[in-house]
Amino acid sequence: MDLPYFIPAFDDIEDPIPVINPATGALVGRIHQGSTIEVDTAVLRASEAFPKWAVIDATERAKVLFKAAALVRNRQAAFAGLLTSEQGKPLKESKNEIAGFARILEYYASISGLLKGDYGNSSAYGHAIVSRKPVGVCGAIIPWNVPAIIMGWKVGPALAAGNSIILKPATTAPLTCIQLAGCLVEAGLPADILQVVTGPGPVVGEAIASHPGIRAVSFTGEVGTGRRVASLAAPYFKRVTLELGGSDPMIVCNDANLAEAAKGAVAGRFFNCGQTCTAVKRLFVDSSVEEEFVHKLQTMISSLKVGNGLESGVDMGPVHSLAQRSLIADQVERTIEGGFGTIKTGGKDITIGNSGSSFFEPTLLSGLDPEAPVLKEEVFGPVLPVMPFETLDDAISVANSTQFGLGASVWTHDTRIVSRACEELQAGIVWVNQHLKIPPEVPFGGTKDSGIGRENGRYALEHYLEEKTILIKP
Ligand code: NDP
Repeated sequence: MDLPYFIPAFDDIEDPIPVINPATGALVGRIHQGSTIEVDTAVLRASEAFPKWAVIDATERAKVLFKAAALVRNRQAAFAGLLTSEQGKPLKESKNEIAGFARILEYYASISGLLKGDYGNSSAYGHAIVSRKPVGVCGAIIPWNVPAIIMGWKVGPALAAGNSIILKPATTAPLTCIQLAGCLVEAGLPADILQVVTGPGPVVGEAIASHPGIRAVSFTGEVGTGRRVASLAAPYFKRVTLELGGSDPMIVCNDANLAEAAKGAVAGRFFNCGQTCTAVKRLFVDSSVEEEFVHKLQTMISSLKVGNGLESGVDMGPVHSLAQRSLIADQVERTIEGGFGTIKTGGKDITIGNSGSSFFEPTLLSGLDPEAPVLKEEVFGPVLPVMPFETLDDAISVANSTQFGLGASVWTHDTRIVSRACEELQAGIVWVNQHLKIPPEVPFGGTKDSGIGRENGRYALEHYLEEKTILIKP
Protein backbone atom coordinates (compact mmCIF):
# COMPACT_ATOMS: atom_id res chain seq x y z
CA MET A 1 0.00 0.00 0.00
CA ASP A 2 1.24 3.51 -0.80
CA LEU A 3 1.89 5.84 2.07
CA PRO A 4 -0.98 8.31 2.24
CA TYR A 5 0.99 11.35 3.31
CA PHE A 6 4.41 10.69 1.95
CA ILE A 7 6.18 13.99 2.05
CA PRO A 8 7.30 15.43 -1.24
CA ALA A 9 10.94 15.19 -2.19
CA PHE A 10 11.50 18.71 -0.87
CA ASP A 11 13.81 19.29 -3.80
CA ASP A 12 12.51 22.80 -3.90
CA ILE A 13 13.50 23.42 -0.28
CA GLU A 14 16.90 24.75 0.48
CA ASP A 15 19.11 22.52 2.60
CA PRO A 16 16.66 19.65 3.40
CA ILE A 17 17.75 17.04 5.96
CA PRO A 18 18.15 13.50 4.56
CA VAL A 19 16.70 10.53 6.45
CA ILE A 20 18.95 7.50 6.07
CA ASN A 21 18.17 3.77 6.31
CA PRO A 22 20.63 2.44 8.92
CA ALA A 23 20.55 -1.05 7.39
CA THR A 24 21.75 0.11 3.98
CA GLY A 25 22.88 3.71 4.18
CA ALA A 26 20.28 4.51 1.49
CA LEU A 27 18.14 7.64 1.43
CA VAL A 28 14.61 7.04 2.77
CA GLY A 29 13.31 10.60 2.48
CA ARG A 30 14.03 14.21 3.25
CA ILE A 31 12.59 16.58 5.78
CA HIS A 32 12.32 20.27 6.05
CA GLN A 33 14.97 21.95 8.19
CA GLY A 34 12.66 23.90 10.48
CA SER A 35 13.74 26.96 12.41
CA THR A 36 12.48 29.14 15.24
CA ILE A 37 10.26 30.89 12.69
CA GLU A 38 8.32 27.66 12.07
CA VAL A 39 7.92 27.17 15.81
CA ASP A 40 6.62 30.74 16.26
CA THR A 41 4.15 30.26 13.43
CA ALA A 42 3.02 26.88 14.74
CA VAL A 43 2.46 28.31 18.24
CA LEU A 44 0.41 31.18 16.84
CA ARG A 45 -1.78 28.82 14.83
CA ALA A 46 -2.09 26.33 17.68
CA SER A 47 -3.16 29.14 20.05
CA GLU A 48 -5.82 30.29 17.64
CA ALA A 49 -7.14 26.76 17.08
CA PHE A 50 -7.04 25.71 20.73
CA PRO A 51 -10.19 27.38 22.21
CA LYS A 52 -12.61 25.59 19.85
CA TRP A 53 -11.04 22.16 20.36
CA ALA A 54 -10.91 22.69 24.13
CA VAL A 55 -14.66 23.17 24.45
CA ILE A 56 -15.70 20.28 22.24
CA ASP A 57 -17.27 17.53 24.32
CA ALA A 58 -14.64 14.98 25.32
CA THR A 59 -16.64 12.19 23.71
CA GLU A 60 -16.50 14.03 20.37
CA ARG A 61 -12.75 14.37 20.68
CA ALA A 62 -12.65 10.66 21.47
CA LYS A 63 -14.39 9.90 18.15
CA VAL A 64 -11.52 11.57 16.28
CA LEU A 65 -8.97 9.47 18.19
CA PHE A 66 -10.90 6.24 17.54
CA LYS A 67 -11.16 7.05 13.84
CA ALA A 68 -7.47 7.91 13.58
CA ALA A 69 -6.60 4.63 15.32
CA ALA A 70 -8.67 2.74 12.74
CA LEU A 71 -6.89 4.51 9.88
CA VAL A 72 -3.52 3.67 11.41
CA ARG A 73 -4.50 0.02 11.84
CA ASN A 74 -5.58 -0.16 8.18
CA ARG A 75 -2.20 1.19 7.14
CA GLN A 76 -0.17 -0.82 9.62
CA ALA A 77 1.87 -2.69 7.02
CA ALA A 78 2.87 0.42 5.07
CA PHE A 79 3.72 2.42 8.18
CA ALA A 80 5.69 -0.49 9.66
CA GLY A 81 7.76 -0.69 6.48
CA LEU A 82 8.52 3.01 6.71
CA LEU A 83 9.40 2.77 10.40
CA THR A 84 11.82 -0.09 9.74
CA SER A 85 13.38 1.78 6.83
CA GLU A 86 14.08 4.93 8.82
CA GLN A 87 14.75 3.43 12.26
CA GLY A 88 16.15 -0.05 11.52
CA LYS A 89 14.10 -2.32 13.80
CA PRO A 90 12.77 -5.65 12.43
CA LEU A 91 9.43 -5.45 10.66
CA LYS A 92 7.63 -7.51 13.32
CA GLU A 93 8.68 -4.95 15.96
CA SER A 94 7.58 -2.08 13.73
CA LYS A 95 4.18 -3.71 13.17
CA ASN A 96 3.72 -4.03 16.92
CA GLU A 97 4.78 -0.45 17.42
CA ILE A 98 2.30 0.90 14.88
CA ALA A 99 -0.48 -1.19 16.45
CA GLY A 100 0.74 0.10 19.84
CA PHE A 101 0.28 3.69 18.68
CA ALA A 102 -3.29 2.90 17.62
CA ARG A 103 -3.93 1.20 20.95
CA ILE A 104 -2.74 4.25 22.87
CA LEU A 105 -5.14 6.50 20.93
CA GLU A 106 -7.96 4.02 21.59
CA TYR A 107 -7.09 3.91 25.27
CA TYR A 108 -7.26 7.70 25.68
CA ALA A 109 -10.43 7.83 23.61
CA SER A 110 -11.97 5.19 25.85
CA ILE A 111 -11.20 7.04 29.09
CA SER A 112 -12.29 10.41 27.82
CA GLY A 113 -15.23 10.23 30.27
CA LEU A 114 -12.74 10.67 33.11
CA LEU A 115 -12.01 14.13 31.81
CA LYS A 116 -15.46 15.17 32.85
CA GLY A 117 -14.36 14.52 36.40
CA ASP A 118 -15.64 17.90 37.53
CA TYR A 119 -17.39 17.71 40.80
CA GLY A 120 -19.34 20.07 42.98
CA ASN A 121 -19.97 20.17 46.67
CA SER A 122 -20.92 22.76 49.15
CA SER A 123 -18.86 24.33 51.85
CA ALA A 124 -19.19 27.16 54.30
CA TYR A 125 -18.35 29.43 51.37
CA GLY A 126 -21.01 28.22 48.99
CA HIS A 127 -21.00 25.67 46.21
CA ALA A 128 -17.59 24.53 45.11
CA ILE A 129 -16.99 23.35 41.60
CA VAL A 130 -13.62 22.08 40.46
CA SER A 131 -13.35 21.90 36.72
CA ARG A 132 -10.42 20.47 34.80
CA LYS A 133 -9.25 22.54 31.89
CA PRO A 134 -6.74 21.75 29.16
CA VAL A 135 -3.54 23.74 29.69
CA GLY A 136 -3.37 25.16 26.15
CA VAL A 137 -0.60 24.78 23.59
CA CYS A 138 1.72 21.91 24.48
CA GLY A 139 5.08 20.82 23.10
CA ALA A 140 6.43 17.30 22.62
CA ILE A 141 10.04 16.45 21.80
CA ILE A 142 10.74 12.79 21.05
CA PRO A 143 13.70 10.51 20.25
CA TRP A 144 14.31 8.10 17.39
CA ASN A 145 14.24 4.78 19.20
CA VAL A 146 10.50 4.12 19.59
CA PRO A 147 9.06 7.14 17.77
CA ALA A 148 5.49 5.94 17.22
CA ILE A 149 4.86 4.77 20.77
CA ILE A 150 6.47 7.81 22.35
CA MET A 151 4.50 10.07 20.03
CA GLY A 152 1.33 8.26 21.18
CA TRP A 153 2.23 8.71 24.84
CA LYS A 154 2.35 12.47 24.33
CA VAL A 155 -0.18 13.20 21.61
CA GLY A 156 -2.87 10.78 22.89
CA PRO A 157 -3.48 12.34 26.32
CA ALA A 158 -2.82 15.90 25.10
CA LEU A 159 -5.50 15.68 22.42
CA ALA A 160 -7.98 13.71 24.53
CA ALA A 161 -7.70 16.45 27.16
CA GLY A 162 -8.46 19.19 24.62
CA ASN A 163 -5.03 20.74 24.10
CA SER A 164 -3.25 21.64 20.91
CA ILE A 165 0.23 20.19 20.53
CA ILE A 166 3.40 20.80 18.53
CA LEU A 167 5.49 17.70 17.97
CA LYS A 168 9.18 17.73 17.20
CA PRO A 169 10.24 14.25 16.06
CA ALA A 170 13.85 13.09 16.05
CA THR A 171 15.65 14.30 12.97
CA THR A 172 16.79 10.79 12.08
CA ALA A 173 13.34 9.14 12.40
CA PRO A 174 10.64 11.70 11.64
CA LEU A 175 8.77 10.18 8.69
CA THR A 176 6.50 7.70 10.47
CA CYS A 177 5.45 10.42 12.90
CA ILE A 178 4.41 12.62 9.98
CA GLN A 179 2.25 9.78 8.61
CA LEU A 180 0.63 9.15 11.99
CA ALA A 181 -0.12 12.84 12.42
CA GLY A 182 -1.71 12.79 8.97
CA CYS A 183 -4.11 10.06 10.11
CA LEU A 184 -5.27 12.23 13.02
CA VAL A 185 -5.95 15.13 10.68
CA GLU A 186 -7.76 12.87 8.21
CA ALA A 187 -9.84 11.54 11.09
CA GLY A 188 -11.20 15.03 11.75
CA LEU A 189 -8.72 16.76 14.02
CA PRO A 190 -9.20 20.47 13.36
CA ALA A 191 -6.41 22.25 11.50
CA ASP A 192 -3.39 23.28 13.60
CA ILE A 193 -4.38 21.31 16.71
CA LEU A 194 -1.51 18.93 15.98
CA GLN A 195 1.46 20.25 14.06
CA VAL A 196 4.74 18.50 13.35
CA VAL A 197 7.78 20.75 13.14
CA THR A 198 10.96 19.03 11.96
CA GLY A 199 14.49 20.28 12.34
CA PRO A 200 17.53 20.10 14.59
CA GLY A 201 16.98 19.66 18.33
CA PRO A 202 19.18 22.58 19.38
CA VAL A 203 17.05 24.85 17.16
CA VAL A 204 13.48 23.51 16.97
CA GLY A 205 13.57 21.61 20.29
CA GLU A 206 14.97 24.56 22.18
CA ALA A 207 12.46 26.92 20.56
CA ILE A 208 9.64 24.66 21.81
CA ALA A 209 11.10 24.37 25.31
CA SER A 210 11.58 28.12 25.64
CA HIS A 211 8.54 29.49 23.81
CA PRO A 212 6.39 31.51 26.20
CA GLY A 213 3.24 30.49 24.31
CA ILE A 214 3.76 26.79 25.07
CA ARG A 215 2.42 25.93 28.51
CA ALA A 216 3.56 22.33 28.90
CA VAL A 217 6.49 20.39 27.48
CA SER A 218 6.94 16.65 27.42
CA PHE A 219 10.41 15.46 26.51
CA THR A 220 11.93 12.01 25.99
CA GLY A 221 15.62 11.63 25.36
CA GLU A 222 19.02 11.90 26.96
CA VAL A 223 19.63 13.19 30.46
CA GLY A 224 21.74 16.13 29.27
CA THR A 225 19.13 17.23 26.76
CA GLY A 226 16.46 16.83 29.45
CA ARG A 227 18.39 19.20 31.71
CA ARG A 228 18.59 21.74 28.91
CA VAL A 229 14.87 21.46 28.16
CA ALA A 230 14.00 21.82 31.86
CA SER A 231 16.20 24.89 32.24
CA LEU A 232 14.69 26.55 29.17
CA ALA A 233 11.15 25.85 30.37
CA ALA A 234 11.75 26.94 33.98
CA PRO A 235 11.57 30.74 33.53
CA TYR A 236 8.03 30.35 32.17
CA PHE A 237 6.94 27.92 34.93
CA LYS A 238 5.90 25.42 32.30
CA ARG A 239 4.73 21.99 33.21
CA VAL A 240 7.48 19.59 32.26
CA THR A 241 7.69 15.82 32.03
CA LEU A 242 11.08 14.30 31.32
CA GLU A 243 11.50 10.65 30.33
CA LEU A 244 15.25 10.20 30.31
CA GLY A 245 17.78 7.39 30.28
CA GLY A 246 17.88 4.20 32.26
CA SER A 247 20.26 1.47 33.36
CA ASP A 248 17.67 -1.16 34.21
CA PRO A 249 18.79 -4.05 36.41
CA MET A 250 17.35 -7.55 36.01
CA ILE A 251 17.82 -9.81 39.05
CA VAL A 252 17.59 -13.57 38.48
CA CYS A 253 17.26 -15.62 41.69
CA ASN A 254 18.23 -19.27 41.97
CA ASP A 255 14.60 -20.47 42.14
CA ALA A 256 13.65 -18.67 38.90
CA ASN A 257 12.60 -20.54 35.79
CA LEU A 258 15.97 -20.08 34.11
CA ALA A 259 14.75 -20.86 30.59
CA GLU A 260 12.04 -18.18 30.88
CA ALA A 261 14.46 -15.74 32.49
CA ALA A 262 17.01 -16.25 29.71
CA LYS A 263 14.30 -15.64 27.10
CA GLY A 264 13.24 -12.52 29.01
CA ALA A 265 16.80 -11.24 29.23
CA VAL A 266 17.44 -11.73 25.51
CA ALA A 267 14.16 -10.06 24.54
CA GLY A 268 14.71 -7.38 27.18
CA ARG A 269 18.17 -6.49 25.90
CA PHE A 270 18.16 -7.18 22.15
CA PHE A 271 14.67 -5.92 21.28
CA ASN A 272 15.09 -2.81 19.12
CA CYS A 273 18.83 -3.59 18.95
CA GLY A 274 19.13 -2.71 22.62
CA GLN A 275 18.00 0.86 21.99
CA THR A 276 15.21 1.01 24.51
CA CYS A 277 15.27 3.12 27.63
CA THR A 278 13.95 0.21 29.70
CA ALA A 279 16.18 -2.45 28.13
CA VAL A 280 17.91 -4.87 30.49
CA LYS A 281 21.20 -3.01 30.85
CA ARG A 282 22.66 -4.88 33.87
CA LEU A 283 21.87 -8.52 34.53
CA PHE A 284 22.47 -9.94 38.03
CA VAL A 285 22.26 -13.69 38.51
CA ASP A 286 22.55 -15.75 41.70
CA SER A 287 26.07 -17.17 41.68
CA SER A 288 24.81 -20.72 42.29
CA VAL A 289 23.12 -20.76 38.85
CA GLU A 290 25.42 -18.35 37.01
CA GLU A 291 27.23 -20.90 34.88
CA GLU A 292 24.07 -22.63 33.68
CA PHE A 293 22.34 -19.32 33.04
CA VAL A 294 25.24 -17.73 31.15
CA HIS A 295 25.47 -20.85 28.99
CA LYS A 296 21.79 -20.55 28.08
CA LEU A 297 22.23 -16.86 27.27
CA GLN A 298 25.29 -17.49 25.15
CA THR A 299 23.48 -20.13 23.08
CA MET A 300 20.46 -17.91 22.52
CA ILE A 301 22.40 -14.73 21.78
CA SER A 302 24.79 -16.30 19.31
CA SER A 303 21.84 -17.69 17.34
CA LEU A 304 20.10 -14.30 16.89
CA LYS A 305 19.79 -13.46 13.21
CA VAL A 306 21.08 -9.95 12.52
CA GLY A 307 20.15 -8.20 9.30
CA ASN A 308 18.02 -5.70 7.41
CA GLY A 309 14.77 -5.44 9.36
CA LEU A 310 12.77 -5.59 6.13
CA GLU A 311 13.93 -9.16 5.50
CA SER A 312 12.02 -12.04 6.99
CA GLY A 313 13.41 -13.99 9.92
CA VAL A 314 15.57 -11.14 11.19
CA ASP A 315 15.72 -10.93 15.00
CA MET A 316 17.81 -7.80 15.31
CA GLY A 317 18.34 -4.89 12.95
CA PRO A 318 21.16 -2.34 12.80
CA VAL A 319 22.12 0.21 15.42
CA HIS A 320 20.23 3.37 14.47
CA SER A 321 23.23 5.29 13.15
CA LEU A 322 26.95 4.94 12.53
CA ALA A 323 27.56 7.57 15.21
CA GLN A 324 25.55 5.59 17.76
CA ARG A 325 27.41 2.41 16.80
CA SER A 326 30.79 4.09 17.37
CA LEU A 327 29.68 5.02 20.90
CA ILE A 328 28.74 1.42 21.68
CA ALA A 329 31.93 0.00 20.17
CA ASP A 330 33.92 2.47 22.24
CA GLN A 331 32.15 1.47 25.48
CA VAL A 332 32.83 -2.23 24.82
CA GLU A 333 36.44 -1.57 23.80
CA ARG A 334 37.19 0.48 26.94
CA THR A 335 35.65 -2.28 29.06
CA ILE A 336 37.71 -5.05 27.51
CA GLU A 337 40.98 -3.18 27.03
CA GLY A 338 40.78 -1.81 30.56
CA GLY A 339 40.54 -5.39 31.88
CA PHE A 340 37.04 -4.78 33.29
CA GLY A 341 35.37 -7.80 31.71
CA THR A 342 35.39 -10.58 29.12
CA ILE A 343 33.48 -11.09 25.89
CA LYS A 344 31.43 -14.31 25.86
CA THR A 345 30.00 -13.66 22.42
CA GLY A 346 29.90 -10.78 19.93
CA GLY A 347 31.62 -7.47 20.66
CA LYS A 348 32.32 -6.17 17.15
CA ASP A 349 30.90 -4.05 14.32
CA ILE A 350 29.58 -6.06 11.39
CA THR A 351 29.07 -5.01 7.80
CA ILE A 352 26.10 -6.57 6.08
CA GLY A 353 25.57 -5.42 2.52
CA ASN A 354 27.50 -2.17 2.20
CA SER A 355 29.69 0.05 4.34
CA GLY A 356 26.81 2.44 5.04
CA SER A 357 25.16 -0.19 7.24
CA SER A 358 25.57 0.12 11.00
CA PHE A 359 25.27 -3.38 12.45
CA PHE A 360 26.81 -4.51 15.73
CA GLU A 361 27.04 -8.09 16.96
CA PRO A 362 24.69 -9.12 19.79
CA THR A 363 27.16 -9.11 22.65
CA LEU A 364 27.37 -10.89 26.01
CA LEU A 365 29.92 -9.75 28.58
CA SER A 366 30.81 -11.47 31.85
CA GLY A 367 33.39 -11.27 34.62
CA LEU A 368 32.65 -7.59 35.04
CA ASP A 369 34.31 -5.22 37.44
CA PRO A 370 31.86 -2.70 38.97
CA GLU A 371 33.96 0.09 37.41
CA ALA A 372 33.42 -1.26 33.84
CA PRO A 373 32.37 1.51 31.43
CA VAL A 374 29.45 -0.68 30.26
CA LEU A 375 28.10 -0.57 33.83
CA LYS A 376 28.95 3.01 34.73
CA GLU A 377 27.49 4.47 31.51
CA GLU A 378 24.15 3.82 29.82
CA VAL A 379 24.79 1.51 26.86
CA PHE A 380 22.15 2.17 24.21
CA GLY A 381 22.83 -0.88 22.08
CA PRO A 382 22.99 -4.70 21.92
CA VAL A 383 25.36 -5.38 24.81
CA LEU A 384 24.36 -7.46 27.83
CA PRO A 385 26.66 -7.43 30.88
CA VAL A 386 26.09 -10.30 33.37
CA MET A 387 27.25 -10.29 37.00
CA PRO A 388 26.85 -12.87 39.77
CA PHE A 389 25.49 -11.99 43.22
CA GLU A 390 25.75 -13.80 46.55
CA THR A 391 22.86 -12.28 48.52
CA LEU A 392 19.69 -10.42 47.63
CA ASP A 393 20.92 -7.49 49.73
CA ASP A 394 23.98 -7.23 47.50
CA ALA A 395 21.95 -7.49 44.31
CA ILE A 396 19.50 -4.77 45.33
CA SER A 397 22.22 -2.51 46.64
CA VAL A 398 24.28 -2.72 43.42
CA ALA A 399 21.12 -2.47 41.29
CA ASN A 400 20.30 0.81 43.03
CA SER A 401 23.81 2.20 42.80
CA THR A 402 23.38 4.21 39.58
CA GLN A 403 22.11 7.69 38.85
CA PHE A 404 19.15 6.11 37.03
CA GLY A 405 15.87 4.69 38.28
CA LEU A 406 13.66 3.87 35.32
CA GLY A 407 12.77 0.15 35.35
CA ALA A 408 13.93 -2.99 37.15
CA SER A 409 12.90 -6.63 37.20
CA VAL A 410 13.17 -9.54 39.57
CA TRP A 411 12.80 -13.19 38.52
CA THR A 412 11.71 -15.52 41.32
CA HIS A 413 8.70 -17.40 42.67
CA ASP A 414 9.46 -16.54 46.27
CA THR A 415 6.87 -14.03 47.42
CA ARG A 416 9.14 -12.69 50.17
CA ILE A 417 11.78 -11.80 47.59
CA VAL A 418 9.14 -10.29 45.31
CA SER A 419 7.86 -8.17 48.12
CA ARG A 420 11.32 -6.93 49.16
CA ALA A 421 12.48 -6.25 45.62
CA CYS A 422 9.31 -4.35 44.70
CA GLU A 423 9.68 -2.24 47.82
CA GLU A 424 13.41 -1.56 47.65
CA LEU A 425 14.34 -1.32 43.96
CA GLN A 426 14.59 2.36 43.04
CA ALA A 427 12.63 2.49 39.80
CA GLY A 428 9.49 3.94 38.29
CA ILE A 429 8.37 0.46 37.24
CA VAL A 430 9.28 -2.95 38.71
CA TRP A 431 8.44 -6.11 36.77
CA VAL A 432 8.22 -9.57 38.29
CA ASN A 433 9.12 -12.51 36.01
CA GLN A 434 9.00 -10.21 32.98
CA HIS A 435 10.72 -7.09 31.70
CA LEU A 436 10.00 -4.32 29.19
CA LYS A 437 6.19 -4.55 28.92
CA ILE A 438 4.35 -1.23 29.29
CA PRO A 439 0.63 -1.51 28.48
CA PRO A 440 -1.17 1.80 27.89
CA GLU A 441 -3.07 1.61 31.17
CA VAL A 442 -0.11 1.90 33.53
CA PRO A 443 1.94 4.97 34.38
CA PHE A 444 5.49 5.10 33.09
CA GLY A 445 8.39 7.29 34.12
CA GLY A 446 11.52 7.37 36.18
CA THR A 447 13.01 8.34 39.50
CA LYS A 448 16.40 10.00 40.07
CA ASP A 449 18.09 11.05 36.79
CA SER A 450 15.61 8.99 34.77
CA GLY A 451 13.24 11.91 34.85
CA ILE A 452 10.20 13.52 36.36
CA GLY A 453 6.49 13.08 35.79
CA ARG A 454 4.57 10.12 34.45
CA GLU A 455 3.32 9.25 31.00
CA ASN A 456 0.84 6.63 29.97
CA GLY A 457 -2.31 5.58 31.78
CA ARG A 458 -4.76 8.07 33.23
CA TYR A 459 -1.83 9.60 35.18
CA ALA A 460 -0.52 11.23 32.00
CA LEU A 461 -3.64 13.37 31.84
CA GLU A 462 -2.41 15.31 34.89
CA HIS A 463 0.26 16.91 32.73
CA TYR A 464 -2.32 18.14 30.23
CA LEU A 465 -5.08 19.37 32.53
CA GLU A 466 -5.26 21.93 35.26
CA GLU A 467 -7.86 22.43 37.92
CA LYS A 468 -9.97 25.54 38.18
CA THR A 469 -11.95 26.14 41.34
CA ILE A 470 -15.21 28.05 41.30
CA LEU A 471 -16.94 29.03 44.54
CA ILE A 472 -20.55 30.18 44.22
CA LYS A 473 -22.19 31.93 47.14
CA PRO A 474 -25.89 31.05 47.04
P1 NDP B 1 18.41 13.21 22.50
O1 NDP B 1 18.18 13.81 23.82
O2 NDP B 1 19.62 13.54 21.77
O3 NDP B 1 17.22 13.55 21.49
C1 NDP B 1 15.88 13.43 21.82
C2 NDP B 1 15.09 14.54 21.15
O4 NDP B 1 15.55 15.80 21.64
C3 NDP B 1 15.29 14.59 19.63
O5 NDP B 1 14.10 15.01 19.03
C4 NDP B 1 16.36 15.66 19.48
O6 NDP B 1 16.36 16.29 18.23
C5 NDP B 1 15.95 16.63 20.55
N1 NDP B 1 17.01 17.52 20.99
C6 NDP B 1 18.35 17.40 20.82
N2 NDP B 1 18.98 18.45 21.37
C7 NDP B 1 18.04 19.26 21.90
C8 NDP B 1 18.06 20.48 22.61
N3 NDP B 1 19.20 21.12 22.87
N4 NDP B 1 16.90 21.02 23.02
C9 NDP B 1 15.73 20.39 22.77
N5 NDP B 1 15.63 19.23 22.08
C10 NDP B 1 16.77 18.66 21.66
O7 NDP B 1 18.26 11.65 22.75
P2 NDP B 1 18.43 10.49 21.69
O8 NDP B 1 17.68 10.76 20.47
O9 NDP B 1 19.86 10.21 21.55
O10 NDP B 1 17.65 9.31 22.41
C11 NDP B 1 18.30 8.36 23.16
C12 NDP B 1 18.21 8.68 24.65
O11 NDP B 1 16.87 8.82 25.06
C13 NDP B 1 18.78 7.57 25.48
O12 NDP B 1 19.60 8.11 26.47
C14 NDP B 1 17.57 6.91 26.14
O13 NDP B 1 17.81 6.32 27.35
C15 NDP B 1 16.60 8.03 26.22
N6 NDP B 1 15.24 7.54 26.12
C16 NDP B 1 14.43 7.58 27.23
C17 NDP B 1 13.17 7.08 27.20
C18 NDP B 1 12.27 7.16 28.39
O14 NDP B 1 11.07 7.05 28.22
N7 NDP B 1 12.77 7.38 29.59
C19 NDP B 1 12.62 6.49 25.98
C20 NDP B 1 13.52 6.51 24.88
C21 NDP B 1 14.77 7.03 24.97
P3 NDP B 1 17.33 15.79 17.04
O15 NDP B 1 16.85 14.44 16.68
O16 NDP B 1 17.11 16.79 16.00
O17 NDP B 1 18.72 15.76 17.61
